[in-house]
Amino acid sequence: MLTLKNIKKIYKTSNLKQTALDNINLSFRKNEFVAILGPSGSGKTTLLNIIGALDNYTEGDLIINNLSTHNFKENNWDYYRNTKIGFIFQNYNLINHISVYKNVELALTLNGISRKKSKKVVMSVLQKVGLEKYYKKKPNELSGGQMQRVAIARALVNNPDIILADEPTGALDSKTSIQIMELIKNISKNKLVIMVTHNEALAQKYANRIIILEDGKIKSDSKPFINKYKNEEKTKIKKTKMGFFQALSLSLNNIKTKKGRTFLTAFASSIGIIGIALVLSISNGFNKKINEYEKDTMSLFPIVISPSILKYEKEQQDFLESKDELYAYNENDNKSVHINNIKQDYIDYINRIDKKYVNAITYNRLINLNLISKKGSLYKYINSSMVNFVELPNKIEQNSFLRENYDLLSGSLPVNSHDLVLILGEKNRVDKSILEGLFIDSNKNITSFDEVVGKGLKLVSNDDYYTSVQEELFVINKPCKELYDKSKITLKITGIIRPKKNNSLLMMDNTNGVSKIGYLGDLVKEIVKENKESKIVKAQQESKNIVFMGGLTFEEAGLSKNSVLKMLGKDEIPYSLNIYPKNFKGKDKIISYLDSYNKQRKQKEKIIYTDYAKDIRELSGTIMGGITIILISFSSISLIVSSVMIGIITYISVLERTKEIGILRSLGARKKDISRVFSAETLIIGLISGVIAISMTLLLLIPVNYLLYNLTGLKNIGVLNPFHAIILILISIILTLTGGFIPSLKASKKDPVEALRSE
Ligand code: ADP
Ligand code: MG
Repeated sequence: MLTLKNIKKIYKTSNLKQTALDNINLSFRKNEFVAILGPSGSGKTTLLNIIGALDNYTEGDLIINNLSTHNFKENNWDYYRNTKIGFIFQNYNLINHISVYKNVELALTLNGISRKKSKKVVMSVLQKVGLEKYYKKKPNELSGGQMQRVAIARALVNNPDIILADEPTGALDSKTSIQIMELIKNISKNKLVIMVTHNEALAQKYANRIIILEDGKIKSDSKPFINKYKNEEKTKIKKTKMGFFQALSLSLNNIKTKKGRTFLTAFASSIGIIGIALVLSISNGFNKKINEYEKDTMSLFPIVISPSILKYEKEQQDFLESKDELYAYNENDNKSVHINNIKQDYIDYINRIDKKYVNAITYNRLINLNLISKKGSLYKYINSSMVNFVELPNKIEQNSFLRENYDLLSGSLPVNSHDLVLILGEKNRVDKSILEGLFIDSNKNITSFDEVVGKGLKLVSNDDYYTSVQEELFVINKPCKELYDKSKITLKITGIIRPKKNNSLLMMDNTNGVSKIGYLGDLVKEIVKENKESKIVKAQQESKNIVFMGGLTFEEAGLSKNSVLKMLGKDEIPYSLNIYPKNFKGKDKIISYLDSYNKQRKQKEKIIYTDYAKDIRELSGTIMGGITIILISFSSISLIVSSVMIGIITYISVLERTKEIGILRSLGARKKDISRVFSAETLIIGLISGVIAISMTLLLLIPVNYLLYNLTGLKNIGVLNPFHAIILILISIILTLTGGFIPSLKASKKDPVEALRSE
């Protein structure tokens, strides 16, 4: 069943050739107990290793079941080792970090047999060697004799045809030796057992054939066998395979035995990731702060389109410090005023601005609200000359813009055209005139919000409100009660708001910090619709004086005719408007949008804006660039350090576990399986290291944020994005896998015999 034909084994060491086996011809029977004796160095172990395919012969042929092994490939040898051969070594060669049960199971599962199926087999061989009660123990909790029994059980578990034992009792006392010999003798009843021994007495007692080796040659053979084999050149290609999960569990067990070290390893390799995570978190936070800052600045500095603009202002805006040109300037020429003739087409154009760049647009339409207030049987006129009214930003943006820039103190934000909102001044101050208008006792120092919220005012049309006393003279003289009862429109104060602290919003609006009543643009549209054809509007269009101010001239009042007509509700075209960009990029987009309106227009028709947020962008751009550079360099250094670290750590682990590699190979593990075991280990370390890195980062962010807060006054700058956290864990795994790749490959290439010899 097994034949060695002219087997030669020559070891070549640097310049020395050592013939360990010299032309060995041997055949074995299917069932026999062969003892191989001989002095030390005579080639016994070499012979056994060649039979067990742990080592390759230099010349000759090994014939297994009439099959030449000349053309055997790595895989065929692995399969042969795993299924046909069971090894028993002098020093047991058990894997110490896994249980007795797992040690035995290993040989089975390497063959791809499932855990479930293997359980019965493993327990039955353990029973055979009398160790079924010890299956949970670790090898180093057993005596020498017990460990050798485990090794025997492992050799038997695949039910191989051949058991090879290299001085199995060499390390045992005589009493235990006899027990082991009895066990092996028993096994040899239906197997071929080849045992190398020094103990001639034991050999004589138990073996039924004794071969003596000397200087690599057979000196004597007590029961030679001549095998008339015929070579059937068909090679059965079968493969062993180790599942990925088996490799993983093997590594997991190994890692469990050295928790402290694994933790340190993972910690060391996590440092790089911690660095990246911290930088990411902080730059993340800084970016956010910069965005917030941009947004804040942008609401401070809108793009303003006012009715008129001093021409030189516009030209100064395009001026760059770096320009090496002179600018001819004459105060008299340049002070001339450009009139922005805003028409409906421009308003339509503005309405088409891409809203994603715009935080808000506020309109100033100058319109007068004709209102009547009532309390009990008392009535009162209110108009814009008494109470400060302001149009709130467009309905689309009002919620976000109002919410961002104001605190809602009571009630709710306005939703429709008949909703009003009281805007408080500094320190909750309200103009007495407003309180008086609302019939709230203004002599009382403190008024509760409840008295204001819910207050209603009646809106009156121009034709009811104004009475024409002369052709170009209108007065307000109708009884309030009559107007109040006639009016169908009630405006209601729905809420009270106050500009947020540290946000001196609407800087361009010099009434900021002053109390007023806000309304929505929709109300203006309603009023214009009602009043644009009113008698007073018509009369005003014809008149050279202001018809409702006792015939005051425009010059005397400091008003233009256009603005007076707007007060009366002639049209809804704004008198001026402010555009608040979302950020710097948005500002650029808006400006180029506004510029393109002017492109094909004559000078007179151009609408010239003022950009108040001009110089801030450069500063913020520099900060961003700096942060990015720091981030990139930090990250790349950390990455390199991490990968090198992992490589070194895996390499050390390979050196440490050389013996295990040898055992696995002797059990039939493929090279691939060995590298898998180490890859699995690096994967686990990578995962642990990633998790450590993220937890450490979260911990470190607490003091880091505290420090940054003290340095910059900015709160919670470092915030780790969960998405980044996951990516970083993945990077950590990928890095450890790459770092461990070469060492794992090296491990798998180790010579099994040498690996077994190492301690
Ligand atoms: P035994 O087991 O009978 O003591 P071995 O089979 O171990 O003898 O060794 C046979 C001969 O081969 C010895 O001279 C030994 O020095 C040599 N030898 C064994 N293994 C190697 C090796 N890996 N490299 C070089 N020489 C070796
Ligand atoms: Mg030996």
